[in-house]
Amino acid sequence: MQTMPPRHGATPEELLRNLPRIDSTIPMYVDGRWTLADEGGTRDLVNPATGERIAVVAEGSDADAQRAIASARRAFDDGPWSTVSAHDRARLLLRVADKIDEHAAEFAKIDTLNNGKPLREAEYDVADAANCFRYYAGLATKPHGQTFDVPAPSQTFTVREPIGVCGQIVPWNYPLLMGVWKLAPALAAGNVCILKPAELTPLSSLRLASIFEELEFPPGVVNVLLGAGPAVGAPLAESDHVDKIAFTGGTTTGRAIMKAAAGNLKKISLELGGKSPNVVFADADFATAVDYALFGIYANSGQVCSAGSRLIVQDSLHDRFVAALVERAKKIRVGDGFDPETEMGPLISRTQMDRVESYIKIGRDEGATLLCGGTRLEGPLGEHGNFIVPTIFDAPDPKMRIVQEEIFGPVLAVQTFTDEADAIRLANDSVYGLAGAVFTQDVAKAHRVIRKLRAGITWINTYHPTYNEAPWGGYKQSGIGRELGTYGYDAYTEVKQINVNLDVVPSGWFSE
Ligand code: NAD
Repeated sequence: MQTMPPRHGATPEELLRNLPRIDSTIPMYVDGRWTLADEGGTRDLVNPATGERIAVVAEGSDADAQRAIASARRAFDDGPWSTVSAHDRARLLLRVADKIDEHAAEFAKIDTLNNGKPLREAEYDVADAANCFRYYAGLATKPHGQTFDVPAPSQTFTVREPIGVCGQIVPWNYPLLMGVWKLAPALAAGNVCILKPAELTPLSSLRLASIFEELEFPPGVVNVLLGAGPAVGAPLAESDHVDKIAFTGGTTTGRAIMKAAAGNLKKISLELGGKSPNVVFADADFATAVDYALFGIYANSGQVCSAGSRLIVQDSLHDRFVAALVERAKKIRVGDGFDPETEMGPLISRTQMDRVESYIKIGRDEGATLLCGGTRLEGPLGEHGNFIVPTIFDAPDPKMRIVQEEIFGPVLAVQTFTDEADAIRLANDSVYGLAGAVFTQDVAKAHRVIRKLRAGITWINTYHPTYNEAPWGGYKQSGIGRELGTYGYDAYTEVKQINVNLDVVPSGWFSE
C-alpha cells in the first residue's frame, strides 16, 4: 500500500490504527462481531485528494445483508435491548457522545482522509455528531405520549414505541454525520439499526462501530453493513424483516427504495436531492449576501443536498453582485483537506468529477455564460486528485439543465429577477423543495418570500446553518418525512393508543 505525504502527520495506516483488520482487510460489524464479507468481496478505498489507496474494506453481498437483518431481528425480538429503559438508553448514548468527543481529532482526520473535505469542516461534523447523540439522549427520557379527555368510563392515552429493525442507508458527503442523524434518534427510541454507509466512505462509521462495541451494546443492536447500494442496500429495502428504511441520497435511488419498500409496507423516510434557490434582493447587506452565496454553494465543494446552487439576484444588483462573487470565487483556495490553507477540497471520486464536468459542458452547450472556473485544478494536485475549481454560470433561461438538475459540485447558476413575485416564481420553479434562502434588509419582505417558498429548510440573511434541534427535510421530490429535532425522534416510533375501562362491568350491548 502506498503511503501519503504526511500532511496530517500520519500515514493512513496510523490514522486507521483503531480499526480492526482481518487478513489486512477492514471488516464490517455485524451481530456484534467484525467479519469479512460472506463471499470474500473487498473494495479499495481511495483518498480523493491524492488518488492513493488508503485502505481495503470488506465489500458485502446479499448474504451479508441477510446476516445483518437476522441479527437485528433477533436483537429486537428476543434480545435484552427491548428491556433497556429509556433512562439507560440515554446514559449509553451520552457515553457514545463522550467517546466521539474523546476521539474527535481522529474522527475528523478519518473523514478528511476518506472524503477529502477540509479538516476544519470535518471537525464541525464530528462536534455535531457528538451533540446529536447528546440531543437524542436527552429526548429519550422526555414525555412522548398524550392523554385524551374522552367520555367516561374510558381513559385514553398514547405511548410511543420503537418501530423495530431499521435499515439506514446514507451517502458519502457527510460520512459520519449522516449515519449519526439516523442512529441517534433510532437508538434513543429503542430501535435496532443496520447502518449502510456509502461504499466510498465507510471508515468513520466503522470507527463508530468500535465505540458501540467498546460500550457493550448488545449484539445486533447496531450493525454496520458494507457494500454497494444494489448489493446490500436494496435487500434492506426489500426485506419483509426490516420494519423501517431511512434513506439519504439521490432522488432516483430514493424512488427505487420506495418501490422496494412497498412489499411489506415498511415505514420510510427519504432525504433526497435539491436545487435550492438563494434569493438576493437589491436591498440586501451586500457583503453578507456575497459571503453566504459563496458559502452556500462551495461548502463541501458543493456536495451538499441543500447547496444554494441557484443564485437568484435582483436585476438592478446583478452586475455588481456577480462581479464581487466572481472575484471572491477565484480566490478560494482549492486543495488537500489536510492542508490548513485549503478552503475547498476535492470531489469524492473520478465519477463525480466526470459528472460535474459533463454539466459544465452542458452549461456551455445550452448557452449559459461561464463567468469563472469550469476547469480542473492545474498542477500536481490536480493530476491525481478530483479537483474542479469554483465555477459560476450566468444562466438566464430557467429551462436550462444546469438550472434544473442537481449537479452536486462547485457549480453555481445565476438567475435574475425583476420583482418579488418574479423572485418567488423562479425560486419555486423546480421539482425539488429541500432548502432556500432570502437576503434582504426588509423584514416583512423576507418573511413574505420565505412563506411562499415551497421548501422544508429556509434561511433569512444566512445560508446553511443546521441544528440538531430543528427538523430537516424536503418538500416535493426532495423527500418524505423529517430528520432531527423531535420530528426525527417521532419518525422512529409507532404510536399506540391505549384505552382503559375504569368501570369494569359488562357493556350490555347484546342481550344475555
Ligand atoms: P446515492 O443515492 O447514489 O447513494 C446513497 C446511498 O444509497 C449509498 O449508500 C448507496 O450505496 C445507496 N444505494 C444506491 N443504490 C441503492 C439501491 N438501489 N438500493 C439501496 N441503496 C442504494 O447518492 P450519493 O451519490 O451517495 O449522494 C448524493 C445524493 O444524496 C445527492 O442527490 C444529495 O442531494 C443527496 N443527499 C441528500 C441529503 C438530505 O438530507 N436531503 C443529504 C445528503 C445527500
